[in-house]
Amino acid sequence: MLGQMMNYPLTISSLVDHAARYHGETVITSVNTGDGVEETSWGQVGANAHRLGEALLKLRLEPQARCATIAWNNRRHLEIYFGVSGAGLVCHTINPRLFPEQLVYIINHADDRVLFIDRTFVPLVKAIRDKIPGVEHIVLMEGRDEDAAAEIEGLQFFDELIATGSPEFEWPEFDENTASSLCYTSGTTGNPKGVLYSHRTTVLHALASNTPDCIGFSARDVVLPVVPMFHVNAWGTPYACAQVGARMVLPGPGLDGPSLVKLIDDCKVSIALGVPTIWLGLLGEAEKSGTQLASLKRTVVGGSACPPSMIAAFREKYGVEFIHAWGMTEMSPLGSTNQPLAKHADLPTDAQHKLRENQGRPPWGVELEIMDEDGTPLPHDGVAQGALMVRGHWILDSYFQKSVDETLTNGWFDTGDVATMDPDGYLSIKDRSKDIIKSGGEWISSVDLENIAIAHPMLADAAVIGARHEKWDERPVLVAVAAEGHDPSEEEVLSVFEGKIAKWQVPDKVVFTDVLPRNATGKVLKRNLRDQFGDVLTG
Ligand code: ADP
Repeated sequence: MLGQMMNYPLTISSLVDHAARYHGETVITSVNTGDGVEETSWGQVGANAHRLGEALLKLRLEPQARCATIAWNNRRHLEIYFGVSGAGLVCHTINPRLFPEQLVYIINHADDRVLFIDRTFVPLVKAIRDKIPGVEHIVLMEGRDEDAAAEIEGLQFFDELIATGSPEFEWPEFDENTASSLCYTSGTTGNPKGVLYSHRTTVLHALASNTPDCIGFSARDVVLPVVPMFHVNAWGTPYACAQVGARMVLPGPGLDGPSLVKLIDDCKVSIALGVPTIWLGLLGEAEKSGTQLASLKRTVVGGSACPPSMIAAFREKYGVEFIHAWGMTEMSPLGSTNQPLAKHADLPTDAQHKLRENQGRPPWGVELEIMDEDGTPLPHDGVAQGALMVRGHWILDSYFQKSVDETLTNGWFDTGDVATMDPDGYLSIKDRSKDIIKSGGEWISSVDLENIAIAHPMLADAAVIGARHEKWDERPVLVAVAAEGHDPSEEEVLSVFEGKIAKWQVPDKVVFTDVLPRNATGKVLKRNLRDQFGDVLTG
């Protein structure tokens, strides 16, 4: 017997339609690339999404044709998110920080037909235009601009394009499992791989992220996604905000400390989301400018491990609750968020703070397990470390244009992370499996060592790698960047580990460098550091 309720497909267009209908006047602040700060509304964003949907279908694109973006976080990008997917096309967000060869590879692999670009990227696209012949329409995300038109042959203009569509346009009907959007992993090893989300997975992900123990946006929030819209759909923020009609502040190209502090204070941002490196810049500027960041209540931080010293700085200096989140492109991206349980209210304050440092627990919709090399689940005792495996409603089944069999192990996706889990399901990410240091049969977490090192007042940045060692196979080496005006000795740096970890885990050596190499999403490129410093102990 089937249930007798309405069968209403879970579509992305339903999110923006809800926002436009019930939160139509809620302001969206957009820092545009060409013409500065603009205020619009969910009502306007909804209307423009409909216009764009119709305009794109008039271009005679086949269903699920890929429409790519190379763009910052701004309101036209938001309209593209909803207009493209709503029209039954696939919104493919591209990370502009990739190497040009990777951009060309991704655009051709995705078979992109339309390319929306911000002004910043006109030179970039001009340089690769000959290598992406499948792209039929390049659209500048602005009004008409003759200078830009002179750069790229046949360049079209967003404002003119959407003028060919109507705000009354009715979305086409399709199955909720239809593809909606596409993101490529940053490809630290080999070519980037595509992750193709569907309407259903995106809407379920938004619902889960809006539960109070996950992120829980509300109509009373002012949300600043500093995480780029080209990085796993800004962690799903545009969809989740539309679902509840939250006010959004889209920061455009300027993600430096001063610009962010100004936006937070001017727009009274209540919740901001981003990777740890961005918050380092923000905290530095907040300190300098003397702002209290008075409106900011919560910050969601993920993408790489957050040093506990940063969590403490937000809490103690600014009274901001820090929500540590973990996930990946293959998981839409949310896998876990750190929120306390009722029983934790009775713990001493220090213990409560300590508990907020790890990566937290999964929301409904995601199952997590740690497994040994044979695929046997390991105890959830907070000690046993294993491969972190996931499955659930918004987890990748197979990569874009690859078969299922290659990707999953007995129905589980291997995240490539090594983690422990405690009896309550709190997750502690120890390392990427390829970065963990294997010293004489024991594992040492580079993340644990980095978290301690980064709190050293004479260091600006730190990473730990496994360097080759004759006796122990690998031993930890700390690659350190001195803070401005400091020149610490190796001894002074290593003293930070005293009493914090077992002696055998203390790095064997400190090497100093000017800056750590990072990939397009801000993660330290450990492989480059291993190439450079992997032999310092054998040499
Ligand atoms: P990439 O394309 O570089 O893999 P993702 O954003 O998908 O980019 O990266 C996912 C990986 O980032 C995770 O598997 C994990 O190793 C790391 N990561 C994400 N969030 C955290 C976190 N809060 N703590 C530690 N590592 C994290």
